[in-house]
Amino acid sequence: MADSTESGSRKLLGRLREAMASDSAGQERLDKITHLIANSMGTEVCSIYLFRDEDTLELCATEGLKAEAVHQTRMRMGEGLVGRVARYGKVVNTPDAPAAKGFRFMPETGEERFSSFLGIPIQRLGEKLGVLVVQSRDTREYLADEVYALEVVAMVLAEMTELGAFVGEGAALSPLHQQSVLLRGGTGQEGTAEGHVWLHEPRVVITNPIADDPHAEHARLKEAVEELRVGVNKMLEMSQNGDKEQLQVLEAYRMFANSKGWMRRMEEDIARGLSAEAAVEKEQSQARARMEQVSDAYLRERLADLDDLSNRLLRILTGQGKETGVDLPPDPILIARNIGPGELLEYGRSLRGIVLEEGSVGSHATIVARALAIPLVVHAKRITTEALNGDHIMVDGDQGIVHLRPDDTVVTAFRDKIAMQAEAQERYASIRDKPAITVDGKQISLVMNAGLMADLPSLPSSGAEGVGLFRTELQFLVRNQMPRRSELVALYSRVLDAASGKRVVFRTLDIGSDKVLPYMKPTDEPNPALGWRAIRVGLDKPGIMRMQLQALIRAANGRPLTIMFPFVAQADEYRTARAEVDKTIALEERLGHVLPETLEVGAMLETPSLAFAPQKFFDEVGFLSIGGNDLKQFFFAADRENERVRRRYDTLNVSFLSLIERIVERCAISGTSLSFCGEDAGRPVEAVCLAAMGMRTLSMRPASIGPVKSLLLRTNLDDLRKVILDARHRGEQSVRPAVMEWFRQNR
Ligand code: PEP
Ligand code: MG
Repeated sequence: MADSTESGSRKLLGRLREAMASDSAGQERLDKITHLIANSMGTEVCSIYLFRDEDTLELCATEGLKAEAVHQTRMRMGEGLVGRVARYGKVVNTPDAPAAKGFRFMPETGEERFSSFLGIPIQRLGEKLGVLVVQSRDTREYLADEVYALEVVAMVLAEMTELGAFVGEGAALSPLHQQSVLLRGGTGQEGTAEGHVWLHEPRVVITNPIADDPHAEHARLKEAVEELRVGVNKMLEMSQNGDKEQLQVLEAYRMFANSKGWMRRMEEDIARGLSAEAAVEKEQSQARARMEQVSDAYLRERLADLDDLSNRLLRILTGQGKETGVDLPPDPILIARNIGPGELLEYGRSLRGIVLEEGSVGSHATIVARALAIPLVVHAKRITTEALNGDHIMVDGDQGIVHLRPDDTVVTAFRDKIAMQAEAQERYASIRDKPAITVDGKQISLVMNAGLMADLPSLPSSGAEGVGLFRTELQFLVRNQMPRRSELVALYSRVLDAASGKRVVFRTLDIGSDKVLPYMKPTDEPNPALGWRAIRVGLDKPGIMRMQLQALIRAANGRPLTIMFPFVAQADEYRTARAEVDKTIALEERLGHVLPETLEVGAMLETPSLAFAPQKFFDEVGFLSIGGNDLKQFFFAADRENERVRRRYDTLNVSFLSLIERIVERCAISGTSLSFCGEDAGRPVEAVCLAAMGMRTLSMRPASIGPVKSLLLRTNLDDLRKVILDARHRGEQSVRPAVMEWFRQNR
């Protein structure tokens, strides 16, 4: 910079503010700004590129390049040096641009005359807005001080863009947060929803990025940071005896709040003319940009902590709380980076849909969304930066797609899809009370999976014959402390009341692996899915298991009771657990409690080993239920939570179906009742194939009962079985192509 002192920087920002305040159109402002920057930096060129769509940058203003190139020169993300700055959100500083990797020659700009190049990303809190470039004829690398000064300018430009200062003609100058956007993520919970955006964490708006009086801003920042530190210390004191993970987060907060580097960088930004809040946001933006680059989970978490802390600081500085005064819309679609299960339960069924920027298919929030049957899209990148409170939004949980501010054609197509689904639901309602009897006269029992009280109303409405899997751990997962026995008695009793005599299979606590209780000491296991989980925890901690068994017996209070142990890998585990049930029954009798009218005790078959247990085990066990999610994960050695591998192996793979067939045969020999309760039971094609292999009870999400029954009613299982066996005989890897072809022909 010609005048490379802090005061030079402040002067430039002061002029930028004047340009902002002037009553000019967006284009004029941009032109003025490029002129000002080139002048102040002593460079021949200053250009501003803005995004015209997600992937294309457009030259929007320039001092020094050919004027004809403005709004004509475009490049894709990653293309040329400018595209590289945009893609990686990182500065490119080179003395010899034409020799630099990725340089793209653009004759229309007259650019070949310039040698040195400095490109700075214009970004705001992870949102990529454009690129600011200065260029000079001489071969020189820009000094660190100059780079820094330009970063401050880029930060102000980002704020101005956000505030709509550059709105004008053409796509690149169109206002932000008004265009329709399609975001692709992953399915958390199927279903479709239309509604209006409700931001879980409303954005902080900064209207004053530039400040005149650095001393006053310093003082404001210091005061706010002090308030933040006091707050963090208080939180730490309060949670000393609490959950380890939360403590870790708070410790990280404290570390950042006391970090000298963080403070120093913000003070330097202020010295250069930024307001205190703009300085905080600049740091936050850079942390977000880094977050996109790092793959290390621990580092990402720490950057996310820094992000949260910056938000707190911004709220202190701006006085903008979480309460924005806006009411929850009547059809809210919740948007958040992530959300805890407890917070989600608080919103409860008031939500029409949920879109998470992060999240995962196995997270607790997803489990709750599923239990509440709220369509959920996870991994929807950019949603928290794109969406504004009140925006019209459509969520397609089946495809993992989100339409934000959709245009009319999308709205019509989407509503057609919803209408078709509603029609299908009506059709399903009409067969609700019909038994699921196939064309060749085989009756399949369809039951539902549940885990929360909120699931129970679906029992009558879905047509389920009972609850084939009640995941008791959900009650433990959504709390901050271990539920008391009396609470469990009350809950299980209400579940049985709601089931009004229909069979409910209570699965004992299935924790560990992906389901970690917030209040249990985390065990640092290298491979939690293969670690200390489910019945292994129950057998090692008989106190918890007994407490749960007592609660179940008392809740039954003379009614029939069905108990199932998860993740049994060998017969002895079942035997020990079964003995625990008998001991508890004896204890309860001694204590004078009424015993269940009948008692069934069974096991889940989730590990291949159990399928090959001695036949004696099949004789002993009360019943078996195949936990297909886990069984498939262990059979194919493919993590059910890992997006890279989880869809790699087909349930209709011949090996897997042969395993199912074998289990069916072994149960038949012993006369042991068998069901299937993994997610595949709720997928119509998979479900009928399982039935063709001999499964007679399928347990699934309530919403799947209609579609599965509808297909069963139209299927001849004997014929389908032949198709499957023929495909196996031909040596095919998966029977899916043959099955789908058969369905097409027999439609
Ligand atoms: C399964 O593994 O298939 C199952 C039903 O249990 P969960 O999904 O709760 O592990
Ligand atoms: Mg399981």
